[in-house]
Amino acid sequence: MGKNQRLGSCCVVRWSPVVFILAMIAWSYYAYVIQLCIYTVPRPAERVVYLVIYHPLLIMLLWSFLTTIFTSSAPVPPEYYRSAGEVERMRVVEMTSSGNNFQSLATKLSLFSRTSTGAVRYCEICECFKPDRTHHCSVCSTCVLKMDHHCPWVNNCISFTNHKFFMLTLVYTLLLTLYVTGTSLQYFILFWINWGDINQDMQELHIVFLCICSVVFLVAVCSLFCFHIQLLYYNRTTLESLRTPIFESGMDPNKFNVGHYANFTQVFGSTKLLWGLPVFTGLGDGVHFPLRNDERINQSLNKSNNNQQPIMSMKTVLVQPLVQSRSLDVQQSINDDDDDDERRRILMKPHRNDNEHEAENEISQSDNGASNVSLSR
Ligand SMILES: [Zn+2]
Ligand SMILES: [Zn+2]
Repeated sequence: MGKNQRLGSCCVVRWSPVVFILAMIAWSYYAYVIQLCIYTVPRPAERVVYLVIYHPLLIMLLWSFLTTIFTSSAPVPPEYYRSAGEVERMRVVEMTSSGNNFQSLATKLSLFSRTSTGAVRYCEICECFKPDRTHHCSVCSTCVLKMDHHCPWVNNCISFTNHKFFMLTLVYTLLLTLYVTGTSLQYFILFWINWGDINQDMQELHIVFLCICSVVFLVAVCSLFCFHIQLLYYNRTTLESLRTPIFESGMDPNKFNVGHYANFTQVFGSTKLLWGLPVFTGLGDGVHFPLRNDERINQSLNKSNNNQQPIMSMKTVLVQPLVQSRSLDVQQSINDDDDDDERRRILMKPHRNDNEHEAENEISQSDNGASNVSLSR
């Protein structure tokens, strides 16, 4: 099979869930508007009310859904890009001098997240240092800012740029399926009770299946919505809920949790009138994120500055180095384990003989990316 053919079949597979959802929406529109409202509902006033409420909900759902699909993730800023050769040179300098280039770079770029070995996160495929909450998506083949997850139902990454649109898609799907279920239920029951007594026609079958499909979607989307509301509440992404982010101070699932309202406005913005519209209103740049107050950091920085201010602002914490230690002196860096297709790379390591290197490779291979070899200089 040629390369073009493989790409074509891959493209068809990736878009098929989207086509399925759009086909379901199109069929449900026909079943609800034509079969239920026009042919089945007897009272004109009831019919008008049903249609007047149904259409705005449908428009908002389609608007949110399509915006989620076609909003690309924001690119990683140019200053985060370093070629593999440059990183290698930095590593060599790191080993042959007393410098601490990686720590300096992490401080300069406000990189607080670390790999499981404590090293600065670097993507070898994109050849860039990963900003906090950024992950490499193997489907999209790029590093994605504040990546939540790759969603096959929209054939796109849910990330910093379209997180709000995704949440609104869930909200309007919930509202629409709830509304369709509520308004079609009495006719569903009527047809169900009289099932077999009268000749069933396509009209009744459409309404019966419409109600069943609405309930199925309602239950499925409701559970998904509850999960994502919880993530929003604690300011976590799906990936962070699966694997707790690591910082110099260790693993911390609540590092980005800066209060429930602030968490919400990071995604939905502070203009309440725009909360329900799928237009981008999120706060920040997708690269820098306010961190939860860390008393240890505050105390250490306050002490060093002889400053008696009890609590530093979030912004101050953001731009200051977390801990000026030498914890990164000797580290093995392994790119994020959740990025299956990322190769591993040693950013900082001491001079060792070949036997040691081979031994390390064995550990890495047997541990499937979870190894944490830390050697003392
Ligand atoms: Zn990448
Ligand atoms: Zn993706």
